[in-house]
Amino acid sequence: MPTYRIPSDDRVRGSLVRVFSTRQMVDSQRRLKQLVERDLKGDERFRVGEPRLRLLAIESGLVDLEIRCRDTTEMRSLVRCPVCGERLKKVRNMTVFGGTVTLGYRCGRCKYWTGLRRRVPTRYVFTRRA
Ligand SMILES: [Zn+2]
Repeated sequence: MPTYRIPSDDRVRGSLVRVFSTRQMVDSQRRLKQLVERDLKGDERFRVGEPRLRLLAIESGLVDLEIRCRDTTEMRSLVRCPVCGERLKKVRNMTVFGGTVTLGYRCGRCKYWTGLRRRVPTRYVFTRRA
């Protein structure tokens, strides 16, 4: 059985730089994982989890992240961003009675947003920043 190592954050960041130096866009998180693992492979094999890779890519500032979602009918309050783990901000609107009503949530770090009916991320597209 092959054994896998977990690469350090720095190694993954370095790999992201190399991967995006030769391509403009990677159109899924799974594909990005394959590219990074292939880039890191030498005498040893490396494995990097997709959510961790997504977070490192967001934090790197190298790429713009497009988040594709599917709509659900699920109504549930959200605290943390499902994409990057940041605390979500409520999107509020004033009511005619002087109070506020929550319309949904948005993330200040990535571009995730949702209405009260939850939008579930299904695909990520990573584009190299100009
Ligand atoms: Zn986020």
